Amino acid sequence: MSKADELRAMSEEHSAHNYHPLPIVIAEADGAWVTDVDGNRYLDMLAAYSAVNFGHRNPRLTEAAKRQLDQVTLVSRAFDHDQFGPFVTELAELCGKDMVLPMNSGAEAVETALKTARKWGYEVKGVPAGEANIITFEGNFHGRTTTIVSFSTDPDAKDSYGPYTPGFRTVPYGDVDALKAAMDSSTVGVLIEPIQGEAGVNVPPSGFLRAVRELCTANGSLMIADEIQSGLGRTGTTFACDHEDVVPDVYILGKALGGGIMPVSAVVADSDVLGVFKPGQHGSTFGGNPLACAIAREVVAILKSGEFQQRSRELGAHMHERLGRLPNDVVREVRGRGLWAGIELNGEARPVSERLMELGVLAKETHETTIRLAPPLVISRADLDWALDQLEIALKG
Ligand SMILES: *Cc1c(COP(=O)(O)O)cnc(C)c1O
Repeated sequence: MSKADELRAMSEEHSAHNYHPLPIVIAEADGAWVTDVDGNRYLDMLAAYSAVNFGHRNPRLTEAAKRQLDQVTLVSRAFDHDQFGPFVTELAELCGKDMVLPMNSGAEAVETALKTARKWGYEVKGVPAGEANIITFEGNFHGRTTTIVSFSTDPDAKDSYGPYTPGFRTVPYGDVDALKAAMDSSTVGVLIEPIQGEAGVNVPPSGFLRAVRELCTANGSLMIADEIQSGLGRTGTTFACDHEDVVPDVYILGKALGGGIMPVSAVVADSDVLGVFKPGQHGSTFGGNPLACAIAREVVAILKSGEFQQRSRELGAHMHERLGRLPNDVVREVRGRGLWAGIELNGEARPVSERLMELGVLAKETHETTIRLAPPLVISRADLDWALDQLEIALKG
């Protein structure tokens, strides 16, 4: 038995089967490349679902983490620490808002945003007790908690987890009239992915985000943008909402905010919204810890230069130009923005990701027929071209 087979057998036997990973066992990574336990190298075209936007072991980020490891790593929010004030200030500034509520995983930040919207709805908007509703979209993915899966439209994510949390209305993504019809005086928020990631990199019709913004403003509801996967450079701008010059009331951030080192998430909004929380009303033991803040501060500093947004824009345009030329007997549609693509195939996607792996490229199918590409934004143009060459080969079957 090879080392890899031995390790995979351990995972297979002792890990819950809630994932269907490609048969690779990674031991090391650097930039856009990973190396398996047998020394084979692969180009990472998934970047941990955008959590590794700035590359594996980005030197600036590992340096920030190492420095902080030698200082202090966790104090809980019972005490302040010297990374906290600067972190919330710098992240708020990046978002053009004035308050940050730090959490850890993306789902926790989404939960926090939902709680924010409800609390704001009752205490500021004046919705009668227990009547708040929040609008979500078909095909959404916002995480895995019981409340979040309550408004999922994906049976795999939702089934057998009831009873479900009430208070959500779900309308078709991109349908302005349906959104308008679903809104009423008790609508406290509209939770939207500016581009739906897990659904297969679904870009909404042009003008949709603006329409959501206008409807939210007119109805006095919070526009809550889940930019956990779409934000922080992935689409060629700091936030995917930027493509339509839309500023939501609430940003939800995660994934790349932790620099691929640890889970760091946050809800960012103005104080008329996040100011609803008083001591004891929400919290997290690890949220905003010194190590997380030190890493996330470096992420914010990296984003402020605009370098990665620009890389994503330029390399993304090149990638989409090449993807647009794929044969349309195998490829039905290519969606996406920047270095982010959902390639809709006429057939099964899993065999294509398996063939890609044999060719040295790691990508992952989402649902049955979509291949998602989301390489680390540090990828070189030559490596990107090589990966796209391999994709052309893999699609030939
Ligand atoms: C990944 C993701 C989440 C959940 O983040 P976790 O860190 O896995 O909990 C929420 N929303 C979107 C849009 C995501 O892509």
